[in-house]
Amino acid sequence: MLQVQDQSIRPLTTAHLAQTMTLLALSNLELRDKVMGELASNPALELLEDRVCPSCHRHLPQPGPCPACSRPMAEDGPIVFLSPREAAFGRREAQPGDQPAEREPAAPEDLAIHVLQQLAAELDPADRHLAAYVLSSLDEDGFLQDPPAILARTTHSSLTQVERVLTMIARADPPGLATTGPRQALLAQLSLHDPSSSLGQLARRILEEAFSELGRHEFERIAEMLSVSLTRVRQAATFIQDNLNPYPARAYWGSGRQPQGTDPNVYHNPDIQISHRNDDTEAPLMVEIFAPIAGWLRVNPMFRQAAPEGGEEVSEEWARHLERAALFVKCLQQRNNTMRRMLEILVRQQRGFILNGDRFLEPMTRARLATEIGVHESTISRAVSHKSIALPDGRIIPLNRFFDRSLSVRDRIKEMVEGEARPFTDDEIVDRLRKQGVQVARRTVAKYRAIEGILPARLRHHKKDQPAALRV
Ligand SMILES: [Zn+2]
Repeated sequence: MLQVQDQSIRPLTTAHLAQTMTLLALSNLELRDKVMGELASNPALELLEDRVCPSCHRHLPQPGPCPACSRPMAEDGPIVFLSPREAAFGRREAQPGDQPAEREPAAPEDLAIHVLQQLAAELDPADRHLAAYVLSSLDEDGFLQDPPAILARTTHSSLTQVERVLTMIARADPPGLATTGPRQALLAQLSLHDPSSSLGQLARRILEEAFSELGRHEFERIAEMLSVSLTRVRQAATFIQDNLNPYPARAYWGSGRQPQGTDPNVYHNPDIQISHRNDDTEAPLMVEIFAPIAGWLRVNPMFRQAAPEGGEEVSEEWARHLERAALFVKCLQQRNNTMRRMLEILVRQQRGFILNGDRFLEPMTRARLATEIGVHESTISRAVSHKSIALPDGRIIPLNRFFDRSLSVRDRIKEMVEGEARPFTDDEIVDRLRKQGVQVARRTVAKYRAIEGILPARLRHHKKDQPAALRV
């Protein structure tokens, strides 16, 4: 008897654990697909439109969190709750009169996200994937590696769609991205300047008709070619040098960060959002864990009650559906509970980082967090993976950034370089960091500098990355 019971329980427990772990590692977007798939294949599972608290299943008539399940765990602690709604600014359609960016991030995380964020409102939802694809496939200078026809074929888009998206990207900050090379980038940037300016018009002619002469500084030749005075040519060349950048991705954009990893979905679909309650900066932090799909997902009670007609085979199938539906709902709940417990501790520990920036990131390992919650480290790794979190200042960052111990050092290096009167060498940066109580090797400084897109000292005196050939 005991043997039989054992056998019936063990597979279920294993299935339970395995499925919870799988669900834990998914982002909301991926989880949404998973839920939709289950709904489509399992008649015992149903999704009601009711607004129900995901924790206690109480009906929530008012917008906002469940009053019973959104209390701070500790005094002064954050309020962490499972939200009945999906991420608000992920799937919204553009409204007429919208500002291009609903929330201006203080420090865009990477170039693709920085650009997508500007395009969010005017971008046709059908073009979103295409734009994300184009942005993530640019080379490090910001140029297209594939011609539009290839892009169209790869993304199953029309050439018109591709051209439209490329034009939008080229006009965003930093302008000139997603063009085919320096000349096209400069022309795209120029088109944002006053078209009636005669200097601008001359600059356009030089770029269009005498680009290689410009690169070789053959100003007299250009004057002759275009029948204008040498002085005007020099003025136009200076205008180009001062106002345009031949390598748009190397320009200073946003807070001056360079692209790192690219995951454009991070911008559009934060899985978690931290805000101040009623925008009161003194109030406890509110941590909203968005639902992958709005509504109440549950086992259909009618399905449970109704007895199937049509013999043993059908009733076995019903039983399997019911079991599978119950398991899915339970695993989803467990996933959510783990997320909530993890964020309660994480947000309390990293309050300084959340409110004041990279410098204040507390060293924190997944292993330590796992011990505090009483789960295995692999559980935390899964819970952190593929998730993004919106901070109170509007930045959306990957959740694993909370464990990046290099952040605070990188922030110090960035500040040093921004304030330098002459370029500091990596050795000098090591010295200065040591004086601040931070011990790092020169090799590490070089690595962090590269991550932040800061050039080596010998190349840093040029504020803009103009190639020597274009310097006048
Ligand atoms: Zn509740």
